[in-house]
Amino acid sequence: MIKPKTHKRKKREASSTQRTLPPQNPHSQEKLTSATQADFGARVSRRAADRLRAGHVWVYSSDIEFTELAAASAEPPALLPVADYRGVLLGTALYSPTSQIALRLISREAIRETEWLNLLQERLKAAIERRMAALQAPKGENDSCRLCFSEADELPGLVIDKYDDLVIVQLLTKGLDSPAVRDQIVSVLREQINPSTILERPDPRIRELEGMSAPSPAPLYAVDPAHPLTATQFQLNGLKFHYDANAGQKTGAFLDQHANYKAAADWARILSPGGRALDVCTYQGGFALHLARVSNHVTGIDSSRASLEVAERNLAANRDQLRSNVQVDWLEADAFTVLRDWAAAKERFDTIVLDPPAFAKSKRAVEGALRGYKELNLRAMQMLKPHGLLVTCSCSHHVSLSDFEAIVAAAAADAHRRVRLLERRGAAPDHPVILNIPETEYLKCLILEVE
Ligand code: SAH
Repeated sequence: MIKPKTHKRKKREASSTQRTLPPQNPHSQEKLTSATQADFGARVSRRAADRLRAGHVWVYSSDIEFTELAAASAEPPALLPVADYRGVLLGTALYSPTSQIALRLISREAIRETEWLNLLQERLKAAIERRMAALQAPKGENDSCRLCFSEADELPGLVIDKYDDLVIVQLLTKGLDSPAVRDQIVSVLREQINPSTILERPDPRIRELEGMSAPSPAPLYAVDPAHPLTATQFQLNGLKFHYDANAGQKTGAFLDQHANYKAAADWARILSPGGRALDVCTYQGGFALHLARVSNHVTGIDSSRASLEVAERNLAANRDQLRSNVQVDWLEADAFTVLRDWAAAKERFDTIVLDPPAFAKSKRAVEGALRGYKELNLRAMQMLKPHGLLVTCSCSHHVSLSDFEAIVAAAAADAHRRVRLLERRGAAPDHPVILNIPETEYLKCLILEVE
């Protein structure tokens, strides 16, 4: 049976072939079975095949020429053999029939579920081992990190974060949504790091895009099933942070910034020890608390009251770690309004951090995003004292590093400030970047001296 394409992208629909073949079509079977022993699969366009051969793992639904699925199965299969337009095997992919990214390659060979589960085990172990050194040294400073980062660890759609003794799993593609996959993940995590609780935390937006059902709220694993751990306190760079699995954004914290927190504090110590610092979009106080180790006055701004309440608890938990006379305050407000008003009122700071949310969630949103970045950076530069420190971040993949640098340079020109690049940084190493898969690179962090 040929399933009609279910893509949302309409662009190439007119030119792509929708053929109706009987399930056991001898022609397609010959091409696929010769290499795969699979009867059914997806044929992709030349463009998609070239992309896969260059090391990428995604196929957009608009690049699928046709899919041939087993007639008997009511549910779409989790795994699909992928062939190029001539029928030459490219590998096996996780299949997401309702998503724009319809196929995510997990092997360059033809594999079935058992082999996939073995691969999952092997790759997850390797991903955890890659992080072990970072988790172990220096002792007691860090007990949290991303254990698995999706495509960057060859496990598309699988994100796993460790917060102290609590592990949070996100399954972000339809093909991962199975009891066998969950069991395999739990077994590796128990063997490798033996956490006290493993929870699954769905991402509602992705769940809708991928057409996935709501997972059970019960923990995937708990040492004490009657009292699973759902909240804890974890450590980054020797500072304590509260974590609540039932609250907050992403999996709960922004672990990708943890090395940048330290870098920001190190530079502030060099350029303006004891100065006045501002953390814009502070969330639960990540940058602000690190800056409170070296500054005399820190203000954190965020539009989310719930986040600032956690920031206040985090402040209380770290008092003994901070500069003894530091004053820290939190402001619930819109960053654009506050920065505009304070720049007009000639407020002055020694250090400013800008870490807004991803303004560009799609390519189409890039122009608006650049305007947003320009505005925030302009106001920050107007408020920085001579030789002030600006730590400016963008976590939009669609805004490239060069676009981001250009917009920060344009803000500097408008503010009549000369800006010296001290460091170009990205996400922490537990969020690796694969050069063949540019989407794995998203976070940019520029550390600048505004002269
Ligand atoms: N710097 C943080 C992460 C920031 S995430 C850390 O390292 O943990 C982005 C934050 O921006 C979120 O907490 C969100 O609530 C906040 N935010 C979004 N739009 C905002 C706005 N217009 N003004 C102020 N804060 C905003």
